Amino acid sequence: MNSADSSLLLADRLRRVESRQDRERRARIEAERLLESKSLELYEANLALSALAADLERRVEERTRELSVERQRALQLAEVDALTGIANRASFAHRLTDLLADPQASAQGIAVLLIDLDDFKTVNDTLGHAAGDTLLIEVARRLVDTVRPGDVVARLGGDEFAVIACAVGSARQGAVVMAHRLLRALCRPATIDARLVPCSCSIGLAEAGGPGRNADELLRDADLALYASKRGGRERVTSFEVALRAELEQRAALEAEVRHAVVDKQIEPWYQPIMHRSSGRFVGVEVLARWHRPDGKVRAPADFLDAVEVLGLLDTMMENMLQRALREAGPLIADGSLEYLSINVSPSQFNQGWALNRLPALLAETGFPASALVVEITETALLQDIDRTRTMLSALTDRGMRIALDDFGVGYSNFSLLRQLPFDLLKLDRSLICDIETDKDALALAECILNLAVRLRIKVVAEGVETQQQAALLAAGGCATMQGYWFARPQRDLSTWFAPDADPPPRAWA
Ligand code: C2E
Ligand code: CA
Ligand code: CA
Repeated sequence: MNSADSSLLLADRLRRVESRQDRERRARIEAERLLESKSLELYEANLALSALAADLERRVEERTRELSVERQRALQLAEVDALTGIANRASFAHRLTDLLADPQASAQGIAVLLIDLDDFKTVNDTLGHAAGDTLLIEVARRLVDTVRPGDVVARLGGDEFAVIACAVGSARQGAVVMAHRLLRALCRPATIDARLVPCSCSIGLAEAGGPGRNADELLRDADLALYASKRGGRERVTSFEVALRAELEQRAALEAEVRHAVVDKQIEPWYQPIMHRSSGRFVGVEVLARWHRPDGKVRAPADFLDAVEVLGLLDTMMENMLQRALREAGPLIADGSLEYLSINVSPSQFNQGWALNRLPALLAETGFPASALVVEITETALLQDIDRTRTMLSALTDRGMRIALDDFGVGYSNFSLLRQLPFDLLKLDRSLICDIETDKDALALAECILNLAVRLRIKVVAEGVETQQQAALLAAGGCATMQGYWFARPQRDLSTWFAPDADPPPRAWA
């Protein structure tokens, strides 16, 4: 190969090298451009991602905050009474359980007080539910103001409140003092809609008395004590005692027995005659309820009448008993040996209109003449609404029945009632008579009432006359008719006095 050839060859190689280098350079430039554009994209994507992350983080934080507020509110709703803002029943139970489990709190003494408003229903019924709610809020406020720091105040529902009094000490005194302080705070009128509304309550108190007491037991004990306060006449504090449990069990047993007794017609009419002084005859008889038990024992109304009333069975008892009494006394009225039959109508029965609704029907069923029936009513039955009372009494007298004011001398002994209402008879209570032999003032009072009745043309029956001398003193004071053990004790059988061969009434006193 000559030198020209070899120069040509070299030039050719050089060109190829240059051309490869050129391709490589262009490829590199292209790669770099691509890299740069990808980096930019990546950078932008990164930016967008960080913004998204920040937004997400913010939103998560916001939602967490909202959830926490909602949880707090739900917790509060579960623990707090919506109306009064104090603890509710569930939270009260938790707190009591926790406190009883805490040895330190137990050692310092824990007491539970159950508080029930007296006659709250009347406030709701007469002033409306809004006024009732206002009273409940006021009661909660007074409770909170009266307890000590650390005590728990709760509304258990309706008009029932509770307090856990802590650190009351082991002696009963501490808890009792607290209970009386609460009673004083609650038993004063509240101002609602610019009017004074009476407020009173009953309290039941039970003390844990050392560690190991269970919340349910403690609440049950306080509840029994509260029940005793209510039955004892309200506006009072009762501390739980073991005897209460036995008393309540007895009460429940008695109520079960009494319910059966009424349904089974074991309550029967007994009779006590009423003596007429000038004729020397028994002119009337009073029907007195007696429970003739299957074991043969006979119990007086004081042992069962309350239970009959609580059970709502008074109407049934009276109707069964009166059907029998009206049938038994009817023939004596018809043949003239008896002038009238006197029956007792309880205040609640009278006010619920029982006498007016049922007596005419009972008279019609038994054929007993209305003019021979005396309805005895006590003053307490008559004081509520004098106009309504007058209308109801007049409806009875319009049908021919007579009305006696029973137990005069007990309670208010309201003389103006005698003028305002249509009474035929006034029954002087035994308490006015029992001392007239020994106490001049008692005799003077009895004589005054006798005089007054004569002036008002109302006949008087003196009740509970037990001695010959009482009978003589009353006769001298102008009393025309009398009733009492001196003349006759109540008996089941009317023939004791009205059979042809019966013993005549005593006359030595007349
Ligand atoms: P009350 O209507 O004042 O009846 C008179 C009570 O005095 C009767 O008691 C009678 O047994 C009693 N008694 C009569 N004479 C004497 C006496 O000389 N000395 C003494 N210490 N007591 C005498 P009882 O039968 O225990 O009745 C008590 C109350 O129960 C009655 O008082 C009356 O309020 C009520 N009650 C009785 N039966 C009925 C009834 O059928 N229905 C209603 N709603 N209440 C009745
Ligand atoms: Ca009576
Ligand atoms: Ca009486």
